Amino acid sequence: MSEELIRLENVSCMYGKISALKNLNLTINKGDYIGIIGPNGSGKSTLIKSILGLVKLSEGQIYYLDQVNCKKKLKMGYVPQISDVNRYFPISVLEVVLTGKMDSSIKPFFKYSKKDILDAHRMLSMVGLENQKDRQISELSGGEFQKMMIARSLIMNPDILLLDEPTAMVDVLSQRQILNLIRQLSKEITIILVTHQIQDVMKHVSKLVYLEKNVIAEGDPEEVYKYAYLKPVGKRRKA
Ligand code: ADP
Ligand code: MG
Repeated sequence: MSEELIRLENVSCMYGKISALKNLNLTINKGDYIGIIGPNGSGKSTLIKSILGLVKLSEGQIYYLDQVNCKKKLKMGYVPQISDVNRYFPISVLEVVLTGKMDSSIKPFFKYSKKDILDAHRMLSMVGLENQKDRQISELSGGEFQKMMIARSLIMNPDILLLDEPTAMVDVLSQRQILNLIRQLSKEITIILVTHQIQDVMKHVSKLVYLEKNVIAEGDPEEVYKYAYLKPVGKRRKA
């Protein structure tokens, strides 16, 4: 039987009066590679943020390894949507990757260890940025920036990796490199990928979830794709 990592039960999220998620149920098992699709504003980023504990739930619970609301039980790596990030902050590539080591217990004037720095170099070479470590992040292309963010998300050796549109604003070659890298990583780490490049990941993901505030369809990628995009809108039923 597959091991359950995270379970969302009846989760709702509101931003003031705007409902972003409504009564959502979803289970993430160890080894899953889940693709999340849905139109703009359908709650994809909010779903990722709710799992990470970055937004407050207005209803429902999230279980991590069967313990309610205890996200510390799992190490979660996160690549935020590019529009949520300040790409012009004055900081170098290596420094950004190292911030992936930070957790809430770190005090001001914290110094990274030699091992941290070696790990950061290792992550940068894994994503093909070994020669870019001293550059300012504002100088990076979209593709380089996202590769750096993936390196950052991996440095603390996460159990699960959550990526929010990592190929948006990225050139075609980098898109392919990033999706290949995620595919390789999915052999070792549980992955949740929000993407609009459904056709490119269809053959990689183990499961596709179509979201519109809650899960409208989930399961076999081909079936969910057909259901979400090839049926007349009025005829959609909950799968
Ligand atoms: P997606 O990632 O699928 O585009 P989001 O999760 O970003 O969707 O947004 C879901 C809904 O919540 C949208 O209607 C969006 O406008 C709204 N929303 C998202 N973030 C905020 C916020 N910080 N403040 C107010 N409304 C928000
Ligand atoms: Mg989004």
